[in-house]
Amino acid sequence: MSNWPNTADVVVIGGGVAGLSTAMQLAMRDCRVVVLERQQLGNGSSGRAAGLLGQLRGTAESTRMLMDGVNIVRELEGQAGVEIFVQTGSLRIADTLARAQEIKDLVEMGKSIGFEIDHMAIDDVARSLPYMKTDGLVDACYCPTDGHLQPAELVAAYLHVGRERGVHCESQCPVEEILVADNRVGGVKTQRGTIAAPVVVNAAGPWSYLVAGLTQTPLQTAALGHVYLTTRPDPERPIDPRSPAIRDRQLRLYARPETGGLIVGMYAEETTLFDMQSLPSGFDMSAMKVRRDDLQVARLIDAVHQRYPWIDERTPMTMTTGIMTFTPDGKPLCGKLPDIDGLFYCSGFCGHGIVQSPTIGVIMADLILAGQTDYDIGAIEADRFWDLPGFQERDRIGRLCDQMHASYYGKIEGQQGAQTG
Ligand SMILES: Cc1cc2nc3c(=O)[nH]c(=O)nc-3n(C[C@H](O)[C@H](O)[C@H](O)COP(=O)(O)OP(=O)(O)OC[C@H]3O[C@@H](n4cnc5c(N)ncnc54)[C@H](O)[C@@H]3O)c2cc1C
Repeated sequence: MSNWPNTADVVVIGGGVAGLSTAMQLAMRDCRVVVLERQQLGNGSSGRAAGLLGQLRGTAESTRMLMDGVNIVRELEGQAGVEIFVQTGSLRIADTLARAQEIKDLVEMGKSIGFEIDHMAIDDVARSLPYMKTDGLVDACYCPTDGHLQPAELVAAYLHVGRERGVHCESQCPVEEILVADNRVGGVKTQRGTIAAPVVVNAAGPWSYLVAGLTQTPLQTAALGHVYLTTRPDPERPIDPRSPAIRDRQLRLYARPETGGLIVGMYAEETTLFDMQSLPSGFDMSAMKVRRDDLQVARLIDAVHQRYPWIDERTPMTMTTGIMTFTPDGKPLCGKLPDIDGLFYCSGFCGHGIVQSPTIGVIMADLILAGQTDYDIGAIEADRFWDLPGFQERDRIGRLCDQMHASYYGKIEGQQGAQTG
């Protein structure tokens, strides 16, 4: 094949936001990067995301990373000549004293690192979101610089800027082998040919544990289903497209406006664990459907109805379902493992890969090119489960990731270093 790149400085496996952001950042530092995608670029988890960009997390480090991420998206808009970020602000709401304490702690933490955040009176919440039930709320906080974007536009922006700097992408090109000699990565093999490269990045999202399996490496990720609904615009109940997103962790809900309707999703206690190996080789996540009579849908609508009483099973709406990549502690796996030199991991974003991807690209480029980064990445280093007994068997990894998902929104965040969800 004439255009086939026989060599590269870095091969990235996976053309979702994680792989494309990494590729773009590497190319901006003069690396020759090839991205190999088994299907279509941006058609994995990235194509299914609701697109919320919330920066507030349970720890100062993770909040700081996401603050930088929004700035990177702003720069990207300038470089790609597009406007993608919709700054609506966002609210966290509390209807229990424990949740109110959580908000108090988070406001304190946010302010201490210069993040724009403050408490909001419940009357103001009601004025700002007239379509949401506010009875019983005891506190709320407002983050004015949060917002959302269309994930496909973020993918397109990474691609645009990356390609301008020489990133080469091949779609419909699954990696079938990772070439290793003397514990050093040498490149990858596909049906179209091999590419020799001293660095390979596994950014294969829900498939990343299968790609890790190509080198017999257990990777502590699992593929879990997720569903959200989008109501149709209703002239009798206008949803201001600039109204803030909300997070209601007690009901496990997040929501944002979407073209006159409302997106609402839920981190439910129960979800579907996918065996990625058993899916057909041509599996296309963008074609996934969920039945309206599915139990997950019923639970979602039930919780949504409690916060938005006008939404029930008769409300005109569409359902979106996709697969997320979870880890046992709710944090991504970024960097190297001790076994094979030159093989990097960039996966496990636990439902927050869109918002994390801008900074993760910088971190991965730092790690690949300099072997270190100025970011505090202790919590997300890829090797943190490496030799831990109990984190090596597929079945058990799946169960641990599922348990993390079940408690993801349920548990109280705070200054004790709770998860980054
Ligand atoms: C329904 C839903 C809603 C979400 N909402 C949000 C949100 O509001 N905000 C947010 O921040 N995040 C959200 N997420 C999470 C977010 O979508 C993911 O964290 C993010 O897209 C992960 O990006 P990725 O690049 O790691 O994975 P992916 O986008 O899945 O990319 C991995 C790619 O690797 C490719 N691949 C796999 N195996 C191979 C191989 N052998 N060779 C070559 N290529 C391969 C796949 O085809 C895929 O395209 C949501 C996810 C879902 C499913």
